[in-house]
Amino acid sequence: MNPFVGGTERELAGAVANWAKGLTERIPAAEKQGAMPPDVIADLGRLGVLGMTIPEADGGLGASTVAFALVLEELSAAWPSLAVGVAVNSGIVASSIVRYATPDQRARWLPKLADGMGLGAFALTEPTSGSDAASLRTTARPDGDGWRIDGRKQFITNARYAPFAIVLARIGEFDPKRTSAGITAFVVPLDAPGVSIGPSERKLGLRASDTSALILEGARVDRDAVLGDTGKGFTIAMAGLDGGRIGIAAQSVGIARASLAIAKTYAKERKQFGRPIADFEGLRFSIAKAESDIAAARLLALRAAWLRDRGRPFTREAAMAKLYASEMAQRATHAAVQILGGNGYMRDYAVERYARDGRATTIYEGTSEIQRVVIARSLLAA
Ligand SMILES: Cc1cc2nc3c(=O)[nH]c(=O)nc-3n(C[C@H](O)[C@H](O)[C@H](O)COP(=O)(O)OP(=O)(O)OC[C@H]3O[C@@H](n4cnc5c(N)ncnc54)[C@H](O)[C@@H]3O)c2cc1C
Repeated sequence: MNPFVGGTERELAGAVANWAKGLTERIPAAEKQGAMPPDVIADLGRLGVLGMTIPEADGGLGASTVAFALVLEELSAAWPSLAVGVAVNSGIVASSIVRYATPDQRARWLPKLADGMGLGAFALTEPTSGSDAASLRTTARPDGDGWRIDGRKQFITNARYAPFAIVLARIGEFDPKRTSAGITAFVVPLDAPGVSIGPSERKLGLRASDTSALILEGARVDRDAVLGDTGKGFTIAMAGLDGGRIGIAAQSVGIARASLAIAKTYAKERKQFGRPIADFEGLRFSIAKAESDIAAARLLALRAAWLRDRGRPFTREAAMAKLYASEMAQRATHAAVQILGGNGYMRDYAVERYARDGRATTIYEGTSEIQRVVIARSLLAA
C-alpha cells in the first residue's frame, strides 16, 4: 500500500516490470560491449514508455510523475543503464520541451523523443563547469537568420544516439557578478553542421549507457532553435533538474531493491556453520535496515512526484528524495555485496554491477553536496 499511488499507475509499472524481465539475458553482453541495443529502445518506443510523460494531445501517454517514477524504479531494478537513458529522454528533456516549447517546436521535437529511434540528450555540464553550472562558457551568437554555437559539453548521457540535445549556451559576455545572465536553452539537432560527438567515456558503471562529449564548433541552428525566452536558459535547466531528481531518486530505489533481492535469496540458500547465513543476526539486521531505507526513499520520491503532479512546489522535496535515495543506494548495494561475501565481488552475480551503477546516483543531476545546498537554501531563506 502506498498513499501516493493509484491503480493505473501501479498497472503501468507492473507492465513495464514484466517487459523488463525479458532483458536479463542480454545485459552482460551489452554492458561488456558498452552499448544499448537499438531494438531495446525501439521496444520502449512501441510500448509507449518513452512518450509516457508527453501529454496525450501531443501523442504521448500523459502519465503522471508518480507513474513515471514507478516505471523508472522498475527499469532501474532491471537494468540501470537503460533507466538512466530513459530518465534523461522522458524526464528532463521531454518535460523541458512540454513546458517551454512553442506549438511548432512541440510538434517537431516531441515525436522524436517517443518514436524509439533514439533518446534525447540534455547538455549542461562542461569541462570547467559542473556543480557551478551557471559559469558555463559555451557561447551562442546571432548568425544570419539563425545562431552559431561554440563550446564543449562533457559527460552527456545519450549523446551517441540522440536525435537532438537541449544545449545551454550563453548569449553575450560572461559577467562574474551575474553568472546565469544570458544563458539560453537551444534545441540542437545532432546532425546540424558543426556538431560532433567525442569518444564514449569509460566508466565505473552504467557501461551500456552512453556518456560522451558534445562538441560544438561553429554549430549552426535555425532561429527557432531557442527554447523558451532568450536569457532564461538557466531557469529552464534548473526546473528540468528539479523534475529529473525525482527520477534519479526512483532509479536509486530500483537499484537498491534489486541488489537486496539477490542478497535475500542468496542468504537463504548459502550455508555456513551448518545453517543458512540468513539465520545470523548480523545479516538479518543488515537486510532489515536496507529494506526500511528503501521504503523510506521510495516514499520521499513519490511524495515529490505527487506534489509535482498537483502543481505544488517540489524543489526541496525532490532534492531531499534525491539526496536520501542516492545515499541509501550506496549503503544498500554495499550491504548486498557484503552478504554475498566473495561471490558479491565476482561478476557472476549482478550485485557488483548494481553497486557500480548506483555509484553515479550521488553525482549526476546535482551531487549530494549540491542537494544539501538546495535544501538548506530553501529552509533557511530569510
Ligand atoms: C554517468 C554520468 C552521466 C552524466 N550525464 C550528464 C548529462 O546528461 N548532462 C549533463 O549536463 N551532465 C551530465 N553529467 C554531469 C554531472 O551532472 C556532473 O558530473 C555533476 O553535476 C558534478 O559536476 P562535476 O563532475 O563537474 O563535479 P564538480 O562540480 O567539480 O564537483 C566536485 C566535488 O566538489 C563538490 N562541490 C562543488 N561545489 C560545491 C559546493 N558549493 N559545496 C560543497 N561541495 C561542492 C561536489 O559535490 C563534488 O563532490 C553526468 C555525469 C555522470 C557521472
